[in-house]
Amino acid sequence: MKFDNTYIALGKPFYQRVLPAKVPKPKLLLWNRALSDDLLITEDLVNDPQQLGEYFSGNVLPEGAEPIALAYSGHQFGHFNPQLGDGRAHLLGEVLSKDNVRFDIQLKGSGQTPFSRRGDGKCALAPALREYIMSEALYALGVPTSRCLAVVSTGETIHRGLAKAGAVVTRVAASHIRVGSFQYLAARGDISSVKALLDYSIERHFPEIDNIQDSTIAATLSQEQRVLAFLEHVIDKQITLIVQWLRIGFIHGVMNTDNTAICGDTIDFGPCAMMGTYNAKTVFSSIDEYGRYAFGEQGKVAHWNMARLADCLLPLLCQYQTVADEASLSLKDKEQAQQQLALAKIETIIHRYPDKFDEAYYTMYASKLGLAEVNKETKALVDELLALMQSNRLDYTQTFYLLTESLTDKDKENALRNVLGAWVDQWLSIVANGQLVAQTVMAKNNPVVIPRNHHVEQILARCEAALESSPTALTAQESINQIVTQFLTVLGSPYAETDATKHYQDTAADGDRYYQTFCGT
Ligand code: AMP
Ligand code: MG
Repeated sequence: MKFDNTYIALGKPFYQRVLPAKVPKPKLLLWNRALSDDLLITEDLVNDPQQLGEYFSGNVLPEGAEPIALAYSGHQFGHFNPQLGDGRAHLLGEVLSKDNVRFDIQLKGSGQTPFSRRGDGKCALAPALREYIMSEALYALGVPTSRCLAVVSTGETIHRGLAKAGAVVTRVAASHIRVGSFQYLAARGDISSVKALLDYSIERHFPEIDNIQDSTIAATLSQEQRVLAFLEHVIDKQITLIVQWLRIGFIHGVMNTDNTAICGDTIDFGPCAMMGTYNAKTVFSSIDEYGRYAFGEQGKVAHWNMARLADCLLPLLCQYQTVADEASLSLKDKEQAQQQLALAKIETIIHRYPDKFDEAYYTMYASKLGLAEVNKETKALVDELLALMQSNRLDYTQTFYLLTESLTDKDKENALRNVLGAWVDQWLSIVANGQLVAQTVMAKNNPVVIPRNHHVEQILARCEAALESSPTALTAQESINQIVTQFLTVLGSPYAETDATKHYQDTAADGDRYYQTFCGT
């Protein structure tokens, strides 16, 4: 592993140096071989599970690691908390992948940090495995996401109401810069640090902003244009992300600004879940009392989160505004005029969100229905289908899969007509000329298998039982590895129906009516 740490250079307000806690008995449970190959982790190390256990529990620092806990704030369920930060995570450092992309390697559940507040800094086994399973499933489904490299059990008992086995999960992300990272600096009035984080984020995630290729326009953007371009890029990534979540029925569950990554990847899988029966109001998180983060609210929430990012950029943008006739203005008037100018510019970008989101949303549903064009008629068709699915309590994934199949299967077409009535013929009349093309597009956008909540929970329960009841630690390790690997093999090819997928395509017996997820990982 060759570390190349750049976030450290940002300096004091951005993080705290802190070592991971030592653990008594690290045992490597899961290792993501494909990801470790991408990250160029050496064969010698990969073949040494004991050493991997030491490194990825935090017991031993790999050469070049410089552990830090990142500072960030966040709006949690709409309320601003100025002091969050990594309370149970240690960023070991950054590595460059095979394709020369920079990734953060972060341990989670690796002990207390200066940001822990009252938390123990630990993570239980099931949530660690859950993050590994869900992120790999999203990755295979083609959704932008952070991933997991390893899960190591620590040999510790931690307390989550009940006694639980402790674990450390290693997260690999394009970066851990969040909306909350900007909020932390902005809330302290540290505009020069906001500018430093902006520059860092542009270089790491949006280098195109500083490398305009078109020679017919100015060779470089002004400082003001860079700020606005950055906001626009983050918004575009966020829209792409949310629309992909909606495509597969993913509910993030805790879309606080501290869980919104600037790079546009999914991070933090705590209370996430998959929607079975279609209902825009679906919520599984036990703490989301008012449905703020319900399935169908996610687009609006991301808009709100982007407005919070804009808040942080506003003071910086003000500095770049020139006000005419400066001599006759008092300092206060001048500042006010600058603020108004900056606000108008930033609002223009924020107000574009709904139209952009709508466009991306209907384009996505058009591809789920094999429709080449997005127009009034197709938008109405999408809206009507979703309404029918909701009133008929249809399973989201199964219905779209059935629609895909129905293009070459009369029985399935008729089965759908029984529940969707005239809608089916309306839809068929539009796809009539290009059914095969439509089916190919649909098959790429409508998964056969998703990590359904009841299966995920069953897998986690089996893993917990294996760790508790196994006579020797080695057998526990082996069985957990086998249980998860088998499940991930199925989830790894989500668009092809096979004998293996058939066991995982079923809906929950209770329709997930009593299913609840928890943040307390
Ligand atoms: P999350 O819900 O995972 O996004 O976490 C929200 C905040 O709580 C972050 O600052 C976490 O680092 C912190 N946190 C969550 N669980 C713990 C824990 N067990 N110990 C310390 N801090 C925690
Ligand atoms: Mg978080």
